[in-house]
Amino acid sequence: MIVTLLGTGTSSGVPLIGCECEVCRSVDFRDKRLRTSVHLQVGGKSIVIDTGPDFRQQVLREGIRHLDAVVFTHEHKDHTAGLDEVRAYNFRQGIDIPVYARHRVLNQLQTEFAYIFAEKRYPGIPRLRLHEISGEPFDVEGVRFTPIDVLHHRLPVYGFRIHDFTYLTDLNFIPESEVEKIAGTRILVLDALQREPHLSHFTLREAIAVAERFRAERTYLVHISHKLGLHREVEKELPPSIRLGYDGLKITL
Ligand SMILES: [Zn+2]
Ligand SMILES: [Zn+2]
Repeated sequence: MIVTLLGTGTSSGVPLIGCECEVCRSVDFRDKRLRTSVHLQVGGKSIVIDTGPDFRQQVLREGIRHLDAVVFTHEHKDHTAGLDEVRAYNFRQGIDIPVYARHRVLNQLQTEFAYIFAEKRYPGIPRLRLHEISGEPFDVEGVRFTPIDVLHHRLPVYGFRIHDFTYLTDLNFIPESEVEKIAGTRILVLDALQREPHLSHFTLREAIAVAERFRAERTYLVHISHKLGLHREVEKELPPSIRLGYDGLKITL
């Protein structure tokens, strides 16, 4: 499996328009973070988790020429806004793209992208095949995904375990019932927004505590705000097994 971090940022650090902080002015490419999502090459399939507003730019950058499915963690706009761009794959591949999400998220997609689901469809718009998921493990084009039910403030969000890889974005609480699903993972990707307390995201300190609990070979932090600090400075504070993710980082496992 090859995991590519398509984006590791958040909407408040894109960088902010006109922001003069050292991260937004940094020339280190690792400080230039697009909205958080991930691409998986696994079992001969090409799957993305979330399609944020930067999706098109991300797949062009990574040269992703084929897409087998989209899986959603939750319905926030920074994770869904790029969905229209899958139409390029509809054209290339001549198929409907399967989309996997929980009931609430599918409803939201059908509201926000009503034209895609309209009875009278304008030519050339995306063609999707919706699949509702629940808390049970499910197969995406033959690849087993185990949902991990976590909380983003009060909003239930799905993390996913795929073989030895676990992806947990947009959360600040992991119920005890979900711990076993994460245990033994080799690679963990984990939300760490900023240093200051936040209503719906893990802080750096909280993320480190979670990473130390699960003891993955490597934990990569994502959904990072410009307020966290410069990539090279923050990494010096972290234990070797915990790294900051950066856009374009590839993990082979
Ligand atoms: Zn969110
Ligand atoms: Zn988010």
